[in-house]
Amino acid sequence: MDTPVPSRRNFLQATAGGLFVSASLTSPDTKASDANPGIRMANPLSGDVLRTEAELSPDAQVLKEQPREIPVAGKSEVLVCGGGPAGVAAALAAARAGATVQLIEVAGCLGGVWTAGLLTKILDAENKSGIMAELLQRFAEHGSAVANQTNGTVYDPEVAKFVLEDVCVQAGVKIRLHTRLVGAVTDSNRRVVAVLTESKSGREAWLADRFIDCSGDGDLAAHAGCRFDLGFGEDCECQPMSMLALLTGIDPDAVRPYIRETAPAAKRLLLDLMEEHGLSPSYRAPTLRHLHSDIFSIMTNHEYGVSAFDANAISESTIRARREVHDLVNGLRRIGGPWKDIAVVATAEQIGVREGRRIRGRYQITANDIATGLKHEQSVCTAKFPIDVHALNAHGNKEIDGAFRKGGHQPYDIPYPALIAKDVDGLLLAGRCISGDFIAHSSYRVTGNAVAMGEAAGRAATVSIQQQVMPQELRWDKIKG
Ligand SMILES: Cc1cc2nc3c(=O)[nH]c(=O)nc-3n(C[C@H](O)[C@H](O)[C@H](O)COP(=O)(O)OP(=O)(O)OC[C@H]3O[C@@H](n4cnc5c(N)ncnc54)[C@H](O)[C@@H]3O)c2cc1C
Repeated sequence: MDTPVPSRRNFLQATAGGLFVSASLTSPDTKASDANPGIRMANPLSGDVLRTEAELSPDAQVLKEQPREIPVAGKSEVLVCGGGPAGVAAALAAARAGATVQLIEVAGCLGGVWTAGLLTKILDAENKSGIMAELLQRFAEHGSAVANQTNGTVYDPEVAKFVLEDVCVQAGVKIRLHTRLVGAVTDSNRRVVAVLTESKSGREAWLADRFIDCSGDGDLAAHAGCRFDLGFGEDCECQPMSMLALLTGIDPDAVRPYIRETAPAAKRLLLDLMEEHGLSPSYRAPTLRHLHSDIFSIMTNHEYGVSAFDANAISESTIRARREVHDLVNGLRRIGGPWKDIAVVATAEQIGVREGRRIRGRYQITANDIATGLKHEQSVCTAKFPIDVHALNAHGNKEIDGAFRKGGHQPYDIPYPALIAKDVDGLLLAGRCISGDFIAHSSYRVTGNAVAMGEAAGRAATVSIQQQVMPQELRWDKIKG
């Protein structure tokens, strides 16, 4: 396989702030300290850290950090950023096609919204084969009777954590948890050659031949300098975030009319029940789902106007949302009857983020593609899920719904070029950060599609290395296997 890594002492462009850094890169799988004894490395076993040297500006507004050498922590053929539904599939497909794969995930588990987000329901998966079908089978096999009856589409998040780690380990994917990507480096040809991360091990660099952005929010692509779109209109209004939770203490038979999977009017009934008792959930279609025995999941919260890129706003909304979930559950308990013992088992560690950056790719999926049922020669999968724009604010968004819903919705293809970053080389995209407009994103974002996209991106990354071409030089219909 070709080695795109620039020669030692090469000038690389780091896009954060247009900074130019001089990088001395090491050979594959060689620790920087072995290659260059002059570089000071922290010893993680002793709890040692590399101290930051910096100077505070006279007005105390800016801290100027001194340049420092960053150890190269690893070199792989394919590096996947983000271990959610798309990222796990990308890593698995790349590894199974024969590449060495490094997966980098900021949470303490794989699965993204499936696990850290406590989602519990996989949409648009029934018509998918490959890795999606395999995972559904594993979720059903290892899961409860409900997981079994729903062919794994209603799954237990704890089972998903274990299954995803297991399949990745079996495939030889190197998994780094608790590690956030914070930068990407391109060479003079605008090819991505390295990423930077922060973790308890400090700041580290990772080299790879191909990169796949599965961060949901498009972090890798943005750091690499790719253009992107965000939200709706000039204000970049995004769909609300939601805090999901697991509940216990209710008998499924006693609350059957309120359970989403078995009662068509369940959401309406649950909202009516809450309102009759003075409870007013911020999500007006509260969704109760039965997972197994007396374990349920609930979605009953909307956080409006929160940017996925404002850590203060996310922190505040997380605290507000968690409080709302607890308040609503306490309120339900006060109703008594079948609700008298209801309790929260867990709220999600990560508030559910519906929208982040939509990275510009070599094809942009549009609302019109959905209305007309796009058929594309390089289709990586067919999406069937309808347009689903949750209210952008507490007043709803009749305007958006009216304008686009009347256009109709038909099954449409997700074209391979929508998974290839337009502005740089060597970077693929999968999951909700692929190239599409606001309305199209509201449909293709669900996880059945994210997995299929990840599988395609992972396979294409490996094949492009084997064929010594860039991903955009491949045709998906020729390589899909
Ligand atoms: C509240 C809510 C309800 C939803 N309901 C459904 C539903 O019922 N069914 C369904 O199928 N879909 C549903 N969706 C949509 C779906 O969850 C997402 O669109 C889907 O998660 C996309 O998968 P992904 O892998 O692209 O992103 P994610 O699941 O968001 O995964 C991204 C991963 O990347 C990691 N990451 C992010 N940034 C970095 C970084 N800088 N460095 C390292 N790691 C990083 C994250 O921790 C995460 O693990 C829902 C979404 C939300 C928010």
